[in-house]
Amino acid sequence: MATFLVTGGCGFIGSHLCAALRANGHGVRVLDDLSSGSEANLVPGSTFLLGDVCQPMALREALDGVDGCYHLAAIASVQRGEREWLVTHRTNLSATVALFEAARGRGIPVVYASSAAVYGSTGALPLHEDSVVRPLSAYGADKLGCEQHARVAGHVHGIPTVGLRFFNVFGPRQDPTSPYSGVISIFCDRLLRTQALNIFGDGQQTRDFIFVEDVVRALLAAMARADTTAPVFNICTGQGTSVLQLAALVADLCGVKAEIIHQPARAGEVRHSIGSPLRAREYLGLGSTVAIRDGLEATLAWM
Ligand code: NAD
Repeated sequence: MATFLVTGGCGFIGSHLCAALRANGHGVRVLDDLSSGSEANLVPGSTFLLGDVCQPMALREALDGVDGCYHLAAIASVQRGEREWLVTHRTNLSATVALFEAARGRGIPVVYASSAAVYGSTGALPLHEDSVVRPLSAYGADKLGCEQHARVAGHVHGIPTVGLRFFNVFGPRQDPTSPYSGVISIFCDRLLRTQALNIFGDGQQTRDFIFVEDVVRALLAAMARADTTAPVFNICTGQGTSVLQLAALVADLCGVKAEIIHQPARAGEVRHSIGSPLRAREYLGLGSTVAIRDGLEATLAWM
């Protein structure tokens, strides 16, 4: 049995990860400031440290005696990055550097959350790990910065890491009332209340939606692959679903007809985002992913 620190363990993805770690018999320590997460998401049997990942002292204490760290804490919002550039930068990049600094000399492997936002609006699809990275948001730039600092962490300080570029993660516990939550939880919530769906632009924009259980499998597998070359992997399905297709799927599962209201397209929004899952499948030994319909069914059942 090992003990892992999960930063952001009270959040959507972090709470699913903590549950899986506990189910596998591991000890779990959570560091979270509850800014977007909830104490109700804490998994029984885990140790909770209320604190800010930007505080070096909190990080050093949280890392004491752990066998590995999953770093998921972030302000996971492109919009907030536009409004509060420096505040989000501190949490999304400076805290990652602070974490690497706290891990320095202790041989603690770090698996951290990157994002498909590092790619920005690049050309050929699907996006591969070697595709051009040209982030269009402060959030994406900070996630790319985490990857660059992970390389420094490995090369200069011998810290083993793995970065996971999550695409559009969905599943139970994604908060539909949050302004930052994914389109899926918002659609599920509105259709369950038979409310109209707001779609920005023509709805033909595509995303690679991946169920949270698949993301957890990737996180668990990545810990054993952390090394000082700082590998990064796409965590995605390789399948694109348009926002209109998604609306139709959710409506079908809810047994209602979706009323759609088209809103003006959002400036700077990436038109298509589909990743290649091949490298992660090969290196992390991941199997096929949960079909979007099955994932949606599980999400709706939870709501
Ligand atoms: P979330 O908002 O549900 O979870 C983030 C957690 O971090 C929350 O519990 C929050 O309270 C905590 N947190 C934020 N700032 C903190 C701070 N300064 N100190 C301590 N804790 C802090 O988000 P999520 O969807 O679970 O995302 C987890 C990670 O995955 C993030 O790094 C995010 O950028 C990344 N990611 C998510 C998606 C997605 O589709 N959900 C896609 C790509 C990348």
